[in-house]
Amino acid sequence: IKIKITNIDIPVAFASAFEGEIIRRKDMQVEFDGSRVDCAELVQTCDASEIEDHKITVVGPEVDDMELGSKNSIAYVVKVAGKNMQPDFEPVIERKFHNYINCIEGVYHTGQRDMQRIRISIDAFNAGFKIKHIGEVLYASVKNEFDAVVDKCEVVIYTDPAECTRVRHEVAIPIFDKRDERLDTLTDESVDVYYSCILCQAFSPSHVCVVTPERLGLCGAVSWLDAKATHQLDPNGPCQVITKERPIDENLGSYEDVDEAVQKFSQGALEHVTLYSIMQDPMTSCGCFECICGIEPFSNGVVIANREYAGMTPLGMTFPEMASMTGGGVQTPGFMGHGKHFISSKKFMKAEGGIERIVWMPKELKEFVAERLNKTAQELYGIENFTDMIGDETVATDPEALVEYLTEKGHPALAMDPMM
Ligand code: SF4
Ligand code: ZN
Repeated sequence: IKIKITNIDIPVAFASAFEGEIIRRKDMQVEFDGSRVDCAELVQTCDASEIEDHKITVVGPEVDDMELGSKNSIAYVVKVAGKNMQPDFEPVIERKFHNYINCIEGVYHTGQRDMQRIRISIDAFNAGFKIKHIGEVLYASVKNEFDAVVDKCEVVIYTDPAECTRVRHEVAIPIFDKRDERLDTLTDESVDVYYSCILCQAFSPSHVCVVTPERLGLCGAVSWLDAKATHQLDPNGPCQVITKERPIDENLGSYEDVDEAVQKFSQGALEHVTLYSIMQDPMTSCGCFECICGIEPFSNGVVIANREYAGMTPLGMTFPEMASMTGGGVQTPGFMGHGKHFISSKKFMKAEGGIERIVWMPKELKEFVAERLNKTAQELYGIENFTDMIGDETVATDPEALVEYLTEKGHPALAMDPMM
Protein backbone atom coordinates (compact mmCIF):
# COMPACT_ATOMS: atom_id res chain seq x y z
CA ILE A 1 0.00 0.00 0.00
CA LYS A 2 1.05 3.54 -0.78
CA ILE A 3 0.35 6.09 1.89
CA LYS A 4 1.52 9.55 1.01
CA ILE A 5 0.08 11.63 3.85
CA THR A 6 2.11 10.85 6.95
CA ASN A 7 1.12 13.80 9.11
CA ILE A 8 -2.49 12.94 9.87
CA ASP A 9 -3.66 14.91 12.89
CA ILE A 10 -3.86 12.10 15.46
CA PRO A 11 -2.07 11.64 18.82
CA VAL A 12 -0.44 8.32 17.87
CA ALA A 13 1.76 7.22 14.97
CA PHE A 14 0.36 6.16 11.60
CA ALA A 15 2.52 3.87 9.47
CA SER A 16 2.36 0.56 7.66
CA ALA A 17 4.80 -0.78 10.27
CA PHE A 18 1.84 -1.04 12.68
CA GLU A 19 -0.29 -3.10 10.31
CA GLY A 20 0.60 -6.46 11.83
CA GLU A 21 0.17 -5.25 15.41
CA ILE A 22 -2.11 -7.40 17.55
CA ILE A 23 -3.82 -5.97 20.63
CA ARG A 24 -4.45 -8.52 23.34
CA ARG A 25 -7.45 -8.39 25.61
CA LYS A 26 -5.41 -7.28 28.62
CA ASP A 27 -3.91 -4.39 26.63
CA MET A 28 -7.21 -3.19 25.24
CA GLN A 29 -9.16 -0.14 26.36
CA VAL A 30 -12.31 -0.89 24.35
CA GLU A 31 -13.38 -3.04 21.45
CA PHE A 32 -16.05 -2.92 18.76
CA ASP A 33 -17.28 -6.26 17.48
CA GLY A 34 -19.62 -6.68 14.55
CA SER A 35 -20.15 -10.37 15.30
CA ARG A 36 -21.77 -9.50 18.65
CA VAL A 37 -23.31 -6.04 18.30
CA ASP A 38 -24.49 -3.90 15.41
CA CYS A 39 -21.58 -2.47 13.44
CA ALA A 40 -21.01 -1.35 9.86
CA GLU A 41 -18.49 0.31 7.60
CA LEU A 42 -19.69 1.94 4.47
CA VAL A 43 -18.73 4.28 1.66
CA GLN A 44 -21.62 6.24 0.21
CA THR A 45 -21.53 8.27 -2.97
CA CYS A 46 -23.28 11.62 -2.50
CA ASP A 47 -23.81 14.81 -4.39
CA ALA A 48 -21.05 17.36 -3.79
CA SER A 49 -23.61 19.79 -2.34
CA GLU A 50 -24.46 17.29 0.42
CA ILE A 51 -20.90 17.05 1.68
CA GLU A 52 -18.77 19.34 3.77
CA ASP A 53 -15.19 18.34 3.05
CA HIS A 54 -13.19 17.13 6.08
CA LYS A 55 -16.16 17.31 8.43
CA ILE A 56 -15.91 14.53 11.03
CA THR A 57 -18.96 13.89 13.23
CA VAL A 58 -19.26 11.47 16.13
CA VAL A 59 -22.85 10.54 17.01
CA GLY A 60 -22.82 8.89 20.44
CA PRO A 61 -20.32 8.32 23.22
CA GLU A 62 -16.56 8.89 22.82
CA VAL A 63 -14.01 6.35 24.11
CA ASP A 64 -13.79 8.25 27.44
CA ASP A 65 -17.45 7.43 28.09
CA MET A 66 -16.97 3.70 27.45
CA GLU A 67 -16.07 1.26 30.20
CA LEU A 68 -12.59 -0.23 30.25
CA GLY A 69 -12.61 -3.56 28.42
CA SER A 70 -16.14 -3.11 27.08
CA LYS A 71 -17.60 -4.32 23.77
CA ASN A 72 -19.35 -1.56 21.83
CA SER A 73 -21.11 -0.76 18.58
CA ILE A 74 -19.57 1.35 15.86
CA ALA A 75 -20.75 2.32 12.39
CA TYR A 76 -18.92 4.73 10.14
CA VAL A 77 -20.23 6.14 6.93
CA VAL A 78 -17.65 7.75 4.67
CA LYS A 79 -19.52 10.06 2.31
CA VAL A 80 -17.70 10.85 -0.89
CA ALA A 81 -18.37 13.01 -3.92
CA GLY A 82 -16.52 13.55 -7.16
CA LYS A 83 -17.41 13.83 -10.81
CA ASN A 84 -15.51 10.60 -11.61
CA MET A 85 -16.90 8.72 -8.62
CA GLN A 86 -19.07 5.65 -9.34
CA PRO A 87 -21.02 3.49 -6.85
CA ASP A 88 -19.00 0.48 -8.11
CA PHE A 89 -15.94 2.02 -6.49
CA GLU A 90 -17.56 2.06 -3.03
CA PRO A 91 -16.63 -1.52 -2.06
CA VAL A 92 -13.08 -1.04 -3.35
CA ILE A 93 -12.63 1.98 -1.08
CA GLU A 94 -14.32 0.20 1.83
CA ARG A 95 -11.92 -2.70 1.49
CA LYS A 96 -9.03 -0.37 2.18
CA PHE A 97 -10.40 0.68 5.57
CA HIS A 98 -8.84 -2.45 6.99
CA ASN A 99 -5.34 -1.30 5.98
CA TYR A 100 -5.93 2.31 6.97
CA ILE A 101 -7.21 1.59 10.47
CA ASN A 102 -4.54 -1.06 11.03
CA CYS A 103 -1.81 1.47 10.28
CA ILE A 104 -2.78 3.39 13.44
CA GLU A 105 -0.44 2.62 16.32
CA GLY A 106 -2.45 0.87 19.04
CA VAL A 107 -5.52 0.21 16.91
CA TYR A 108 -6.36 -3.14 15.34
CA HIS A 109 -8.97 -3.93 12.69
CA THR A 110 -10.23 -7.14 11.09
CA GLY A 111 -13.24 -8.05 8.97
CA GLN A 112 -15.40 -5.92 6.74
CA ARG A 113 -18.92 -4.77 5.94
CA ASP A 114 -20.99 -5.30 9.13
CA MET A 115 -18.56 -7.82 10.62
CA GLN A 116 -15.60 -5.63 11.43
CA ARG A 117 -13.81 -5.79 14.73
CA ILE A 118 -11.72 -2.98 16.15
CA ARG A 119 -9.62 -2.77 19.30
CA ILE A 120 -8.14 0.40 20.76
CA SER A 121 -5.22 -0.19 23.13
CA ILE A 122 -4.88 1.32 26.59
CA ASP A 123 -1.68 3.02 25.42
CA ALA A 124 -3.41 4.66 22.45
CA PHE A 125 -6.26 5.76 24.72
CA ASN A 126 -3.80 7.23 27.24
CA ALA A 127 -2.10 9.08 24.39
CA GLY A 128 -5.45 10.75 23.71
CA PHE A 129 -6.74 8.64 20.83
CA LYS A 130 -10.48 9.14 20.28
CA ILE A 131 -13.19 7.79 17.96
CA LYS A 132 -13.03 11.00 15.95
CA HIS A 133 -9.42 10.13 15.05
CA ILE A 134 -10.66 7.06 13.17
CA GLY A 135 -12.56 9.61 11.10
CA GLU A 136 -9.40 11.67 10.55
CA VAL A 137 -7.55 8.59 9.34
CA LEU A 138 -10.35 7.51 7.00
CA TYR A 139 -10.71 11.02 5.64
CA ALA A 140 -7.00 11.53 4.98
CA SER A 141 -6.42 8.04 3.56
CA VAL A 142 -9.42 8.10 1.21
CA LYS A 143 -8.62 11.61 -0.03
CA ASN A 144 -5.02 10.58 -0.50
CA GLU A 145 -5.37 7.24 -2.25
CA PHE A 146 -8.53 7.89 -4.23
CA ASP A 147 -7.83 11.47 -5.27
CA ALA A 148 -8.64 10.54 -8.89
CA VAL A 149 -12.30 10.03 -7.99
CA VAL A 150 -12.92 11.59 -4.56
CA ASP A 151 -13.05 15.39 -4.49
CA LYS A 152 -14.91 15.82 -1.21
CA CYS A 153 -15.17 13.53 1.78
CA GLU A 154 -17.06 13.68 5.05
CA VAL A 155 -17.12 11.04 7.81
CA VAL A 156 -19.94 10.29 10.24
CA ILE A 157 -19.15 7.82 13.01
CA TYR A 158 -22.00 6.38 15.07
CA THR A 159 -21.34 4.87 18.48
CA ASP A 160 -24.85 5.32 19.83
CA PRO A 161 -26.12 1.70 19.86
CA ALA A 162 -29.59 2.55 18.51
CA GLU A 163 -28.08 4.57 15.68
CA CYS A 164 -25.67 1.73 14.87
CA THR A 165 -28.60 -0.68 14.67
CA ARG A 166 -30.42 1.70 12.35
CA VAL A 167 -27.40 2.33 10.12
CA ARG A 168 -26.53 -1.36 9.92
CA HIS A 169 -30.01 -2.68 9.17
CA GLU A 170 -31.61 0.19 7.29
CA VAL A 171 -28.66 1.63 5.38
CA ALA A 172 -25.72 -0.75 5.10
CA ILE A 173 -27.26 -4.24 4.73
CA PRO A 174 -29.66 -3.20 1.94
CA ILE A 175 -26.66 -1.75 0.07
CA PHE A 176 -24.56 -4.90 0.60
CA ASP A 177 -27.47 -7.06 -0.55
CA LYS A 178 -27.93 -4.99 -3.67
CA ARG A 179 -24.25 -5.36 -4.53
CA ASP A 180 -24.41 -9.14 -4.06
CA GLU A 181 -27.53 -9.38 -6.20
CA ARG A 182 -25.84 -7.49 -9.01
CA LEU A 183 -23.04 -9.99 -8.96
CA ASP A 184 -25.46 -12.93 -8.79
CA THR A 185 -26.92 -12.03 -12.14
CA LEU A 186 -23.52 -12.24 -13.84
CA THR A 187 -22.04 -15.48 -15.16
CA ASP A 188 -18.62 -16.24 -16.62
CA GLU A 189 -20.30 -16.70 -19.99
CA SER A 190 -22.11 -13.35 -19.83
CA VAL A 191 -18.99 -11.19 -19.59
CA ASP A 192 -16.33 -10.43 -22.19
CA VAL A 193 -13.31 -10.28 -19.94
CA TYR A 194 -11.92 -11.57 -16.65
CA TYR A 195 -9.44 -9.79 -14.39
CA SER A 196 -6.15 -10.72 -12.84
CA CYS A 197 -5.25 -9.72 -9.29
CA ILE A 198 -1.64 -9.69 -8.14
CA LEU A 199 -2.09 -7.78 -4.90
CA CYS A 200 -0.66 -10.74 -2.99
CA GLN A 201 2.61 -10.92 -4.89
CA ALA A 202 4.14 -8.91 -2.07
CA PHE A 203 4.02 -12.14 -0.05
CA SER A 204 3.68 -14.80 -2.77
CA PRO A 205 5.75 -13.54 -5.71
CA SER A 206 4.36 -15.88 -8.38
CA HIS A 207 0.71 -15.83 -7.27
CA VAL A 208 -1.98 -14.66 -9.66
CA CYS A 209 -5.72 -14.78 -8.99
CA VAL A 210 -7.93 -14.94 -12.06
CA VAL A 211 -11.17 -13.31 -10.95
CA THR A 212 -14.38 -14.14 -12.81
CA PRO A 213 -18.04 -13.38 -12.00
CA GLU A 214 -18.50 -16.92 -10.70
CA ARG A 215 -15.12 -17.24 -9.04
CA LEU A 216 -14.07 -14.47 -6.70
CA GLY A 217 -10.51 -14.03 -5.44
CA LEU A 218 -9.50 -16.64 -2.89
CA CYS A 219 -9.31 -14.03 -0.13
CA GLY A 220 -13.06 -13.62 -0.53
CA ALA A 221 -12.64 -9.85 -0.77
CA VAL A 222 -12.25 -9.29 -4.53
CA SER A 223 -15.25 -9.98 -6.71
CA TRP A 224 -15.28 -9.54 -10.47
CA LEU A 225 -17.04 -6.18 -10.02
CA ASP A 226 -14.41 -5.13 -7.47
CA ALA A 227 -11.58 -6.18 -9.79
CA LYS A 228 -13.22 -4.25 -12.61
CA ALA A 229 -13.53 -1.14 -10.43
CA THR A 230 -9.95 -1.54 -9.20
CA HIS A 231 -8.78 -1.63 -12.81
CA GLN A 232 -10.76 1.51 -13.66
CA LEU A 233 -9.39 3.32 -10.61
CA ASP A 234 -5.82 2.31 -11.32
CA PRO A 235 -5.29 1.10 -14.90
CA ASN A 236 -1.68 0.13 -14.15
CA GLY A 237 -2.54 -1.39 -10.80
CA PRO A 238 -3.01 -4.94 -9.50
CA CYS A 239 -6.07 -5.83 -11.59
CA GLN A 240 -5.60 -6.19 -15.34
CA VAL A 241 -8.01 -7.20 -18.07
CA ILE A 242 -7.75 -10.81 -19.25
CA THR A 243 -9.52 -11.50 -22.52
CA LYS A 244 -11.27 -14.84 -23.04
CA GLU A 245 -11.42 -15.07 -26.79
CA ARG A 246 -9.45 -18.29 -27.25
CA PRO A 247 -10.97 -21.07 -25.16
CA ILE A 248 -9.12 -24.40 -25.03
CA ASP A 249 -11.53 -26.45 -22.93
CA GLU A 250 -14.72 -24.97 -21.57
CA ASN A 251 -15.24 -27.70 -19.01
CA LEU A 252 -11.82 -27.10 -17.47
CA GLY A 253 -12.13 -23.37 -17.91
CA SER A 254 -8.88 -23.14 -19.82
CA TYR A 255 -8.08 -20.39 -22.31
CA GLU A 256 -5.00 -19.44 -24.27
CA ASP A 257 -5.62 -15.84 -23.17
CA VAL A 258 -5.68 -16.83 -19.49
CA ASP A 259 -2.51 -18.90 -19.85
CA GLU A 260 -0.72 -15.99 -21.51
CA ALA A 261 -1.87 -13.63 -18.79
CA VAL A 262 -0.76 -15.85 -15.90
CA GLN A 263 2.59 -16.44 -17.64
CA LYS A 264 3.08 -12.73 -17.90
CA PHE A 265 1.87 -11.75 -14.42
CA SER A 266 3.78 -14.59 -12.73
CA GLN A 267 6.96 -13.64 -14.58
CA GLY A 268 7.01 -17.05 -16.22
CA ALA A 269 6.51 -19.10 -13.05
CA LEU A 270 3.12 -20.39 -14.25
CA GLU A 271 2.32 -21.76 -17.68
CA HIS A 272 -1.21 -23.10 -17.55
CA VAL A 273 -4.06 -22.33 -15.18
CA THR A 274 -7.60 -23.66 -15.34
CA LEU A 275 -10.52 -21.89 -13.74
CA TYR A 276 -12.70 -24.89 -12.92
CA SER A 277 -10.39 -27.76 -12.02
CA ILE A 278 -8.68 -28.69 -8.76
CA MET A 279 -6.72 -31.54 -10.40
CA GLN A 280 -5.48 -30.12 -13.69
CA ASP A 281 -3.42 -26.93 -13.52
CA PRO A 282 -5.41 -25.49 -10.61
CA MET A 283 -5.09 -21.84 -9.70
CA THR A 284 -2.29 -21.04 -7.29
CA SER A 285 -2.88 -20.05 -3.69
CA CYS A 286 -1.16 -17.25 -1.80
CA GLY A 287 -1.70 -17.30 1.93
CA CYS A 288 -4.96 -15.47 2.49
CA PHE A 289 -7.54 -18.01 1.29
CA GLU A 290 -10.75 -18.05 3.30
CA CYS A 291 -11.02 -21.81 2.77
CA ILE A 292 -8.99 -24.76 1.52
CA CYS A 293 -10.45 -27.65 -0.34
CA GLY A 294 -8.60 -30.97 -0.57
CA ILE A 295 -9.39 -34.37 -2.06
CA GLU A 296 -10.66 -37.14 0.22
CA PRO A 297 -9.87 -40.40 -1.63
CA PHE A 298 -12.12 -42.77 0.37
CA SER A 299 -15.30 -40.98 -0.64
CA ASN A 300 -14.22 -39.68 -4.10
CA GLY A 301 -14.96 -36.27 -2.73
CA VAL A 302 -13.42 -33.14 -1.28
CA VAL A 303 -13.19 -31.74 2.21
CA ILE A 304 -13.35 -28.00 2.76
CA ALA A 305 -11.99 -26.25 5.86
CA ASN A 306 -12.29 -22.57 6.66
CA ARG A 307 -9.66 -20.49 8.42
CA GLU A 308 -11.74 -20.07 11.58
CA TYR A 309 -12.03 -23.85 12.05
CA ALA A 310 -9.57 -24.99 14.71
CA GLY A 311 -10.34 -28.73 14.75
CA MET A 312 -9.35 -31.83 12.78
CA THR A 313 -10.65 -32.71 9.31
CA PRO A 314 -11.18 -36.21 7.85
CA LEU A 315 -7.97 -35.68 5.87
CA GLY A 316 -6.07 -36.10 9.14
CA MET A 317 -5.02 -32.47 8.87
CA THR A 318 -6.05 -29.22 10.51
CA PHE A 319 -6.54 -26.00 8.53
CA PRO A 320 -2.96 -24.79 9.20
CA GLU A 321 -1.62 -28.17 8.07
CA MET A 322 -3.65 -28.01 4.88
CA ALA A 323 -2.52 -24.41 4.42
CA SER A 324 1.14 -25.38 4.68
CA MET A 325 0.79 -27.61 1.64
CA THR A 326 -1.37 -25.21 -0.36
CA GLY A 327 0.11 -21.71 -0.07
CA GLY A 328 3.10 -19.90 -1.46
CA GLY A 329 1.94 -19.23 -4.99
CA VAL A 330 2.55 -22.75 -6.32
CA GLN A 331 0.10 -25.15 -7.98
CA THR A 332 -0.76 -28.15 -5.81
CA PRO A 333 -3.18 -30.44 -7.69
CA GLY A 334 -5.71 -31.87 -5.26
CA PHE A 335 -5.54 -28.85 -2.97
CA MET A 336 -6.83 -25.37 -3.61
CA GLY A 337 -7.47 -22.18 -1.66
CA HIS A 338 -10.72 -20.35 -2.36
CA GLY A 339 -13.24 -17.83 -1.08
CA LYS A 340 -16.32 -18.85 0.93
CA HIS A 341 -18.70 -17.65 -1.75
CA PHE A 342 -17.07 -19.88 -4.34
CA ILE A 343 -18.50 -22.93 -2.55
CA SER A 344 -21.98 -22.28 -3.92
CA SER A 345 -20.77 -21.41 -7.42
CA LYS A 346 -21.83 -23.49 -10.38
CA LYS A 347 -18.20 -23.32 -11.42
CA PHE A 348 -16.81 -24.84 -8.20
CA MET A 349 -14.65 -27.79 -9.40
CA LYS A 350 -16.92 -28.02 -12.41
CA ALA A 351 -14.34 -30.15 -14.25
CA GLU A 352 -14.48 -32.81 -11.53
CA GLY A 353 -18.26 -32.83 -11.28
CA GLY A 354 -18.91 -29.70 -9.24
CA ILE A 355 -20.33 -29.21 -5.77
CA GLU A 356 -21.58 -32.84 -5.69
CA ARG A 357 -18.01 -33.67 -4.68
CA ILE A 358 -18.26 -31.79 -1.39
CA VAL A 359 -18.39 -34.41 1.38
CA TRP A 360 -17.34 -32.53 4.52
CA MET A 361 -17.22 -29.00 5.93
CA PRO A 362 -17.05 -27.58 9.44
CA LYS A 363 -20.57 -27.08 10.78
CA GLU A 364 -20.20 -23.32 11.01
CA LEU A 365 -19.11 -23.02 7.38
CA LYS A 366 -21.88 -25.35 6.27
CA GLU A 367 -24.44 -23.14 7.96
CA PHE A 368 -22.89 -20.04 6.41
CA VAL A 369 -23.13 -21.40 2.84
CA ALA A 370 -26.27 -23.54 3.26
CA GLU A 371 -28.85 -21.31 1.61
CA ARG A 372 -26.80 -20.59 -1.49
CA LEU A 373 -25.30 -24.07 -1.76
CA ASN A 374 -28.68 -25.77 -1.48
CA LYS A 375 -30.04 -23.49 -4.17
CA THR A 376 -27.17 -24.41 -6.52
CA ALA A 377 -27.59 -28.16 -5.81
CA GLN A 378 -31.28 -27.87 -6.53
CA GLU A 379 -30.63 -26.06 -9.80
CA LEU A 380 -27.78 -28.29 -11.00
CA TYR A 381 -28.87 -31.74 -9.85
CA GLY A 382 -32.38 -31.40 -8.42
CA ILE A 383 -31.09 -32.35 -4.95
CA GLU A 384 -33.07 -30.92 -2.01
CA ASN A 385 -31.23 -29.87 1.15
CA PHE A 386 -27.86 -30.97 -0.16
CA THR A 387 -26.07 -29.69 2.97
CA ASP A 388 -27.83 -32.41 4.99
CA MET A 389 -25.78 -34.99 3.08
CA ILE A 390 -22.48 -33.25 3.83
CA GLY A 391 -20.58 -34.38 6.92
CA ASP A 392 -19.16 -32.07 9.57
CA GLU A 393 -17.11 -32.37 12.76
CA THR A 394 -20.16 -33.41 14.77
CA VAL A 395 -20.59 -36.59 12.67
CA ALA A 396 -17.05 -37.47 11.60
CA THR A 397 -13.45 -36.35 11.73
CA ASP A 398 -12.02 -39.58 10.26
CA PRO A 399 -12.59 -41.04 6.77
CA GLU A 400 -14.27 -44.29 7.90
CA ALA A 401 -16.97 -42.59 9.93
CA LEU A 402 -17.42 -40.06 7.15
CA VAL A 403 -17.98 -42.72 4.47
CA GLU A 404 -20.46 -44.44 6.78
CA TYR A 405 -22.37 -41.16 7.18
CA LEU A 406 -22.29 -40.44 3.43
CA THR A 407 -23.54 -43.96 2.65
CA GLU A 408 -26.41 -43.53 5.08
CA LYS A 409 -27.33 -40.20 3.44
CA GLY A 410 -26.91 -41.48 -0.12
CA HIS A 411 -24.32 -38.81 -0.94
CA PRO A 412 -23.78 -38.64 -4.75
CA ALA A 413 -19.95 -38.46 -4.54
CA LEU A 414 -19.75 -42.14 -3.55
CA ALA A 415 -21.03 -43.16 -6.98
CA MET A 416 -18.78 -40.79 -8.93
CA ASP A 417 -15.51 -41.68 -10.66
CA PRO A 418 -12.43 -41.53 -8.48
CA MET A 419 -10.66 -38.18 -8.74
CA MET A 420 -7.18 -39.71 -8.91
FE1 SF4 B 1 -6.08 -10.29 -5.06
FE2 SF4 B 1 -6.17 -12.91 -4.97
FE3 SF4 B 1 -4.76 -11.59 -3.14
FE4 SF4 B 1 -7.44 -11.51 -3.09
S1 SF4 B 1 -6.12 -13.32 -2.79
S2 SF4 B 1 -6.07 -9.76 -2.89
S3 SF4 B 1 -7.91 -11.55 -5.27
S4 SF4 B 1 -4.34 -11.69 -5.33
ZN1 ZN C 1 -3.25 -13.41 -0.74
